[in-house]
Amino acid sequence: MVSDLMSIGYGEMLELVNELKQPKYRARQIMSWLSKGIRPCEMTNIPASLRDVLSSIPFGGAEIIEQIHSSKDETVKLLYGLEDDNVVEGVLMRYSYGNTLCISSQVGCRMGCTFCASTLNGRTRDLTAGEMLSEITAVERLFPTSDDRKRTVTNVVMMGCGEPLDNYENTVRFLHRATSEDGLGISPRNISLSTCGLVPRIYSLVEDAPHITLCISLHAHNDDMRRRTMPIANTYSLRELIPAAKHYADATGRRIIFEYALIDGVNSADNDAKHLATLLRGINCHVNLIPLNSVNERRLLGVSRSRAAQFASLLENYHISATVRRSLGTDIDGACGQLRNRHIGTTGEMNLQ
Ligand code: SAH
Repeated sequence: MVSDLMSIGYGEMLELVNELKQPKYRARQIMSWLSKGIRPCEMTNIPASLRDVLSSIPFGGAEIIEQIHSSKDETVKLLYGLEDDNVVEGVLMRYSYGNTLCISSQVGCRMGCTFCASTLNGRTRDLTAGEMLSEITAVERLFPTSDDRKRTVTNVVMMGCGEPLDNYENTVRFLHRATSEDGLGISPRNISLSTCGLVPRIYSLVEDAPHITLCISLHAHNDDMRRRTMPIANTYSLRELIPAAKHYADATGRRIIFEYALIDGVNSADNDAKHLATLLRGINCHVNLIPLNSVNERRLLGVSRSRAAQFASLLENYHISATVRRSLGTDIDGACGQLRNRHIGTTGEMNLQ
């Protein structure tokens, strides 16, 4: 049995309902409530005795305990409280085609990237699939659509706190629950999973989640450069990571997104564009350039947006598709982990060399 109610899929709910000698249709009724993040006590068409049994199972909720609205655009930064009082964060971004929610997959992170605020205190615990779903349903309850049949959140990016492939089983379960018709019914193509590059798990994703958009945080075009900022590069070299990315793209037909945070004086010279293009030649991919968000706790600096645009056109000249990520909510600590760190009172500063 899974850890919480929100993590349960339709098949498992059917078994539970059978065990409790309840009619089959109850499973679908309960799943429909859960897809809206509604707790058993509010499931009005379910008999009280069944609601009591459901209430005895942990729910797997994530409640929004703080919202910060950007004054520059409609971006909202969110702090979620989990049932054990841990906190994670999310960001809701409004685009013309719909709303994208950035969710967290772990409380903290143990990957140790030197530019990332999420990893300062390491990883506290993994999120369950249900808690990840609750991040979405909590936003939908706060910002409902006028049309009840439409969801507020049309796109999800797993780019908040945590490394989703370091929490593999829960992440795959989440992806199934988020995309299945008995779950949230979000198109897998509208879900992006970002990883720092856990190579064996990328191969597993070909079987377990072939329709999503896989994003790989590259940030460097050679191992020495990558090791300076990303400890995972000591475990998996680019000679392993790049073929894994190519395999995912070839086996699934999905274009890989490589994320490349431009860090001043580290990876953003003209020559770096050339080497990056050479590394990625022959892969069905796109490069998402992000001027590094300077984080108080770190001493790495980003480049200007105009330098990022130049870097993109250099890549385009080498026939590598590239864009500069639109930056939203720049006034509200958009980078992952910053809001949570303020909440839990982290002020640590890392020495980079
Ligand atoms: N663990 C996953 C997902 C979380 S981070 C991963 O590593 O991909 C989401 C993205 O934001 C990653 O590409 C990450 O490298 C990037 N990121 C983290 N801190 C950043 C910062 N200060 N500026 C720009 N990008 C950052």
